[in-house]
Amino acid sequence: MYLKKLELYGFKSFANKIELNFEKGVTAVVGPNGSGKSNISDGIKWVLGEQSVKSLRGSKMEDVIFAGTSTRKPLGMSEVSLTLDNSSQALPIEYDEITITRRMYRSGESEYYLNKSACRLKDIRELLMDTGIGKDGYSIIGQGKIDEILSSKSEDRRQLFEEAAGIVKYKHRKNEAEKK
Ligand code: ATP
Ligand code: MG
Repeated sequence: MYLKKLELYGFKSFANKIELNFEKGVTAVVGPNGSGKSNISDGIKWVLGEQSVKSLRGSKMEDVIFAGTSTRKPLGMSEVSLTLDNSSQALPIEYDEITITRRMYRSGESEYYLNKSACRLKDIRELLMDTGIGKDGYSIIGQGKIDEILSSKSEDRRQLFEEAAGIVKYKHRKNEAEKK
């Protein structure tokens, strides 16, 4: 399973719809300061359900919507789609490709889609549980994250090992069942 495609429209500095296609292996993104490199990784976190504006380097969630420039009007919504290659069937879904979409209007509500069907963020979280993908998964290692892992409490570190071992979903189901 690997990240195959990322589409951004109205997200931060991406006023035009752009499509980034990734191959298997390593991809490096290079460009001048302020050209939008970090906005790409913010887009990945956001589509995976990030709710923390601080982690998205903003002060309110609306900051992810293109705010306009001296020559261009602001946009009213932001949409990011992330496509994973699932031809290995690593995710228990019959499709060879999985596209996760998040859309948000200035009013603030986010809509989520799995392969173009509306769903809840909860459905996306459950699908990606134990894969390392997800806003808190180990597939996104930001600046300072390694230090955080090394210096964190053993209970917090345990989270990471449980995700890697693939037992988070069982714990989650147990908790859900106990709530009922
Ligand atoms: P560096 O090399 O300095 O890390 P970078 O390539 O990572 O730079 P980003 O932080 O991704 O750059 O992009 C910053 C740019 O995105 C700034 O010019 C900022 O004005 C623009 N930007 C951020 N949010 C919005 C928004 N909502 N609307 C329009 N532009 C935005
Ligand atoms: Mg940057």
